[in-house]
Amino acid sequence: MIKLHDKFFKPFIAAKQIDDAITRMAEQIAVDFADEVPVFIGVLNGSFMVVSDFVKKYPKPCEVTFIKLASYEGVKSTEDIQRLIGLTQDLSGRSVVILEDIIDTGGTLAEIHRIFKNENVKSLTIATLFYKPTAYKKDFKLHYVGIEIPDKFIVGYGLDYDGLGRNLPEVYQIKTTQHMTNLVLFGPPGAGKGTQANFLKEKYDLVHISTGDVFRYNIKNETALGMLAKSYMDKGELVPDQVTIEMLSAEVEKNAGANGFIFDGFPRTSAQAAALQELMHSKDSEINAMIALEVEDSILIERLLERGKTSGRSDDADESIISNRIKEYYSKTAILKDYYSEQDRYFGVDGVGSVEEITERLSTVIDAL
Ligand code: 5GP
Ligand code: MG
Repeated sequence: MIKLHDKFFKPFIAAKQIDDAITRMAEQIAVDFADEVPVFIGVLNGSFMVVSDFVKKYPKPCEVTFIKLASYEGVKSTEDIQRLIGLTQDLSGRSVVILEDIIDTGGTLAEIHRIFKNENVKSLTIATLFYKPTAYKKDFKLHYVGIEIPDKFIVGYGLDYDGLGRNLPEVYQIKTTQHMTNLVLFGPPGAGKGTQANFLKEKYDLVHISTGDVFRYNIKNETALGMLAKSYMDKGELVPDQVTIEMLSAEVEKNAGANGFIFDGFPRTSAQAAALQELMHSKDSEINAMIALEVEDSILIERLLERGKTSGRSDDADESIISNRIKEYYSKTAILKDYYSEQDRYFGVDGVGSVEEITERLSTVIDAL
């Protein structure tokens, strides 16, 4: 992923794919113009890179020049009338091939046609490396197209975003969701996960998704997914991962503008972790880190016994039950620790200290992501 100014872009078309497309175009055009010396005209600025690579692959004599379109200043017109700069050569009787980096709506192409009407060229042929068929609004024929792409903004290989990105040898596509920080938060019972989740949510403007709450919400409101989940639970069966993932997907969707998410209570298995990563990828995002609060067992037991005295939660009152819950936590999360460690996305944070101290430690991890 790259960042240009305020926007994030993800890899989209590799240098090799671009190279192959240009090779195909050059070979095809050389066949079609076998008996002529065409004049290739690049439209600046974007096309400098494609023209350079194209003519190196063109196996026969040819001429190369560039033009640039510039808006007339001070013209009162709803249509921004363009004029041509840089065309100093007489092109009458010549076979002209326009080499474009990208054709989007076709507005630029319409101007080129308008301008070349007066040039008395033998033929005007259009070749473009990239073409967005769903954005194209004109009827002009495109004689050669390298790669068709969806109607999304791209940068690289001559194309810029606000001046940057032209030098990149491959093409990147804008990310539909901009940069999010997505965390999987873990901690044994008594580690203070809930307290910290609340602080992080405020500090980083994240949405806290507690899987238990999501389940309860869907079942209580009898959503289609809730009913489906319940049908498994009523039979005493585990709810399939796909159902849970779809519930989480709906939560992510509901908060599409969020800065990120804190996932709590999910994933529990590496298959779920992979499914969650896939879900986030489908939203043009990813799980950036698993953060686990680490607290020694003896301290956890002490804290939970203390909590049991006031909360009246029976499972917080018995030391052997507490011990078991802690053991279970470690046996279950070990797999996830391995899963995220392999990707360098596991961060253990010391969970002993004041609430502020622990928040500070968590923030250090998150700020470095
Ligand atoms: P059109 O006139 O066909 O709508 O668009 C042509 C011009 O718009 C291109 O020459 C290029 O400067 C710009 N453009 C269109 N789509 C893109 C894109 O996805 N990325 C970048 N960087 N520029 C684009
Ligand atoms: Mg252009």
